Amino acid sequence: MDGEFDYVIVGAGSAGCVLAHQLGADPTLRILLIEAGGSDRRLFVQMPLGYGKLFHDPAVNWNYHAEPDPGLLGQSDHWPRGKLLGGSSSINAMVWIRGHRGDYDDWRAAGNPGWGWDDVLPAFKAMEDFSGGADAWRGVGGPLHIAANRRHAHPLVQPFLDACGTVGLAQNPDFNGAAQDGVGPYQLTVKGGRRNSAARAFLRPAMARGNVVVLTRAQVTGLTFAGRRATGVTYRRAGRSLTATARREVILSGGAINSPQLLMLSGIGPGAHLQAMGLPVRVDNANVGAHLNDHQGLNYTWRMRVPTLNDILRPWWGKLWVGAQWLFARSGPLAVSINHAGGFVSTDPGRSRPNMQLYMQAFSTLLPRAGERPVLSPDPFPGFSIGLSNCRPTSRGWLQLASPDPLAAPRITANAFATPEDRAEMLAAVKLIRRIAAAPPLSGLIAEELRPGPAVVSDAALTMDFQRRSGTVYHPSCTARMGPDPATAVVDPLLRVHGVEGLRVIDASAFATLPGGNTNAPAMLMGWKGAELIRAGG
Ligand SMILES: Cc1cc2nc3c(=O)[nH]c(=O)nc-3n(C[C@H](O)[C@H](O)[C@H](O)COP(=O)(O)OP(=O)(O)OC[C@H]3O[C@@H](n4cnc5c(N)ncnc54)[C@H](O)[C@@H]3O)c2cc1C
Repeated sequence: MDGEFDYVIVGAGSAGCVLAHQLGADPTLRILLIEAGGSDRRLFVQMPLGYGKLFHDPAVNWNYHAEPDPGLLGQSDHWPRGKLLGGSSSINAMVWIRGHRGDYDDWRAAGNPGWGWDDVLPAFKAMEDFSGGADAWRGVGGPLHIAANRRHAHPLVQPFLDACGTVGLAQNPDFNGAAQDGVGPYQLTVKGGRRNSAARAFLRPAMARGNVVVLTRAQVTGLTFAGRRATGVTYRRAGRSLTATARREVILSGGAINSPQLLMLSGIGPGAHLQAMGLPVRVDNANVGAHLNDHQGLNYTWRMRVPTLNDILRPWWGKLWVGAQWLFARSGPLAVSINHAGGFVSTDPGRSRPNMQLYMQAFSTLLPRAGERPVLSPDPFPGFSIGLSNCRPTSRGWLQLASPDPLAAPRITANAFATPEDRAEMLAAVKLIRRIAAAPPLSGLIAEELRPGPAVVSDAALTMDFQRRSGTVYHPSCTARMGPDPATAVVDPLLRVHGVEGLRVIDASAFATLPGGNTNAPAMLMGWKGAELIRAGG
């Protein structure tokens, strides 16, 4: 479809769907949303625990691989990113975390007015429909349903929380409420036992209004310009090259890998690198693709003396039972995330914000299966895992083009655990995990530690283990970060790309820094606030 619209949005992910919904509330606007992937009407997308099946599925996933990383002992990490309506919110683990209030105050302090905690709290409240009810921090009646997830708690959640209490960690019933610190149940973007992605919560209602046109299986390959002004996009669909024109603005919502890639392909990025790729330089900005910020994490795993989800998810009769529970009642283990509970903790008491996130999983997947994360066919023994990831790593990676071909994957350098601080806090954190497992009542339920195993004890061995087994927890961001100064940022506080007109980046790439916690909520916030900024004429 060649055509002319007021706004052309690239990418129907977490931010793009929210943006289309909020901008499209003005019926006088015509909006085109272009998505490289296809529909989200798929069984394993709608079924919350189907998540493991989406991990490597090229039908819904860009399946990126990072460069071999010294911090991960030379391994090349798998980087899944959603490639379908809803983007990564259609393949993610559905944990709903806004981040620490101090993270947003950092954004404002970095020269981004309108992005402090007091500024973003009303947006978070307005977008959500929280099943736990409204209060000073939480909202009801918004488009996005968030399940408080108190009903389906696995029997091992309470012993886990009690063991955390034994080692002095506070309980917190709502990480998105008054404070983030402590341990408790995770809230989920799940509604009626089905994944509540950005596509379901925002895009479908937006499409029903009639002024938002969605084009699937169409990959944007570049931007068109008239002088300094972005005027539209070129894209490929069904083997054809097409263009779409934006009367007002082009908005990149392709996520933290693809948005900076598109900027570079269009001549906005590090000048020398673009020249080396044979691309003309429109705006020389070294920050495009730089500052790649991501959380790294791993699991500790035990064999239990009591049944876990492994015992019901693995055998055929169990599969039949949980399948029937989900099909007929939208309940049971398939209706929730693999992460039942978790928390935000500090590895030393001097910190003003927690620096580690925990994930409790009443199951284990030590035995690999080709092409999937075997969530639906876990290990053949009662397994239990505690995952952990860093909240505010100091290591930074970067993205570059591997080729000027817009259909080729970019080169991702994670640069994990590159700083002594990141290694030291992870070492302290894995020791904390062992203290939790050794604390009653959890300790009495554990038969033996399986990963890394009791032989791994010294600091050197523990460090080697976490570097060997860690990987992305799928929160890449900041690759087109916001800030007032083009010398250090890509977009201004109104999310407009420095150095050109008519072009914004509205997704996780534009985070000023990576919030401590999962990134779906902050990415949706970008869409919500971005629409406000556009509609206010900024
Ligand atoms: C496996 C996994 C598990 C996760 N678990 C959680 C979790 O439990 N909780 C949480 O809060 N966060 C989680 N996250 C992270 C979170 O989902 C993402 O940070 C968030 O969805 C990013 O939103 P976005 O809008 O920036 O990008 P995305 O949602 O990734 O959207 C980008 C969209 O743009 C499209 N696109 C890209 N390039 C083009 C192009 N050239 N042309 C057309 N379309 C294009 C993509 O196909 C995609 O649909 C997880 C992520 C993954 C991958």
